[in-house]
Amino acid sequence: MSGNGYTLPRKLRELVPYAPLSGSYRIRLDANESFLSPPPELMEELMAAVMAVDFNRYPDPYAVELCEKCAAFFGVDSSMVVAGNGSDELIGLIVSWFTEPGDTMAVVSPDFSMYSFYAQPCGLRLLTVEKDPGTLVLDVDALISRAREADARLLIFSNPCNPTSLAATRADILKIVDGLPGCLVVVDEAYMDFAEGSILRMAGEHDNLIVLKTCSKAFGMAAIRLGFAVARPGLILALKAAKSPYNVNSMTQAVGCVLFSHPDYLAGCADEIRASRDTLCRELSALAGEKAEILDMRPTCANFVFLRLTDAKGVYEALLARGIAVRLMGDRLRVSAGAPIENRALLSTLREILR
Ligand code: PMP
Repeated sequence: MSGNGYTLPRKLRELVPYAPLSGSYRIRLDANESFLSPPPELMEELMAAVMAVDFNRYPDPYAVELCEKCAAFFGVDSSMVVAGNGSDELIGLIVSWFTEPGDTMAVVSPDFSMYSFYAQPCGLRLLTVEKDPGTLVLDVDALISRAREADARLLIFSNPCNPTSLAATRADILKIVDGLPGCLVVVDEAYMDFAEGSILRMAGEHDNLIVLKTCSKAFGMAAIRLGFAVARPGLILALKAAKSPYNVNSMTQAVGCVLFSHPDYLAGCADEIRASRDTLCRELSALAGEKAEILDMRPTCANFVFLRLTDAKGVYEALLARGIAVRLMGDRLRVSAGAPIENRALLSTLREILR
């Protein structure tokens, strides 16, 4: 390499990458994925749809058929939907295009770290409203008044929350949306299929609201990278203008179209994951009763549980050494609900580690 004096810009030199775990582990409970993969009949249909793709052609830039099918599934008009390369892409687009340098973007903490990650190159002021460290509950009135004081232009948060697994009520979310009229409020409902209180159907009634959905969690389609933003048509048109031209590839569009023509399958997936989560939760609570090392476990509205431990890092490493990947977050572990056999392996390994 010849040294020609090029240096990376400061924002890149200072960037702390979002580094999901890579490598292979016997049991993956670290990324809140679904443990279900499509049954053989559906798999055949998905494969046939992929085979019918015109591989020499660009994808439909606006994924029209897919958005129509998804809108029908969500019960909204298709003018209220845009598809993204995962909801991650849509978060990045919203943060960079619905703000100006110097604007304040509000987030809550703890929450999904990608919101502030995407803010880094945009020259935004970040207002972080902390949740109560004990209960992890969002103080809605405090959030509204802090965001108002800071004149926030954008507020983004997940509901149910990743990682706390708690959900705010629909009434609370609407209070936030109505309480911040000059601020775009983005409610990320990645885990709402496991909870209650979606405000998706109300997206058209509020001019400052975008709701995000993903196929990566309840629908078990993390591999295809497909997410949606739902909002009034004016906001959707703006997002369509800002997105890259062919952001959702043709295979993903084809698979997504098949998926949304099986609403019963999708609802069944969410039910099955919820049942696994409930069992995991019950058994972990019982374990917490036996083992003093488990300090706290919140009730969960998502497909994962959030535990506080005396030595979260030690337990994380011990699990990893035994081929079980979970997510370490400070003094807590976030554990996705797996297949029953995976949950049992997790529990027996935890029993072994927490002597
Ligand atoms: N929002 C939240 C709250 C998430 O936890 C995740 C994934 N971990 C995403 C969005 C990203 O989802 P997608 O796979 O659609 O990019």
